[in-house]
Amino acid sequence: MITLALSKGRIFDETLPLLAAAGIEVTEDPDKSRKLILATTRPDVRVVLVRASDVPTYVQYGGADLGVTGLDVLLEGGNQGLYQPLDLRIAACRLSVAVRADYDYASAVKQGSRLTVATKYVNLSRNFFASKGVHVDLIKLYGSMELAPLTGLADAIVDLVSTGNTLKANHLVEVERIMDISARLVVNQAALKLKQAPIRRILDAFASAIPQS
Ligand code: AMP
Repeated sequence: MITLALSKGRIFDETLPLLAAAGIEVTEDPDKSRKLILATTRPDVRVVLVRASDVPTYVQYGGADLGVTGLDVLLEGGNQGLYQPLDLRIAACRLSVAVRADYDYASAVKQGSRLTVATKYVNLSRNFFASKGVHVDLIKLYGSMELAPLTGLADAIVDLVSTGNTLKANHLVEVERIMDISARLVVNQAALKLKQAPIRRILDAFASAIPQS
């Protein structure tokens, strides 16, 4: 049995065409059932649904052989002992700094002000601002980052931006692009050895179906 860990939403939806290229179709709709283990048209392949940030943990400890997760999750602290053979070029977005439209970020940075930054990505943010020589106090949040500058909790946020619509709706502006993000395939190292042939077939099919930009 090959177990693939996915998170619901964009990653699940955008992985389906890659699975199709490998001759695998998920036979259950995760939005219509509460099941966490989904069967596929291949009796030896199943999909497990986990939180995006738990995908590396499942794959690292062998709860899943393969997983798809964002580069943001991997870089923030979940890439130990994982083989990362493919940039799937799906769920593309960027990690950016954003502030209220009326906040003069450039001047604050130039003057050496200490910034309060709210984010889910404290490690990536710490490294980024340290590399710029900007002093920051980081506030860890688990969601709705956009609210932080609006309520006075923080001067800036670090979050994923895709279309920019969420920022715009909340009167925030993107002031720095930290890095481009996309989803990666991760593989359990032991599984790669023990189930080499079936996993290789899936990797090759995924590789041939990666969207070109
Ligand atoms: P958007 O309004 O299209 O710029 O999307 C921004 C919102 O969607 C923010 O709340 C982000 O945290 C979230 N988001 C955008 N892209 C992704 C992604 N690839 N994976 C997870 N969350 C994302």
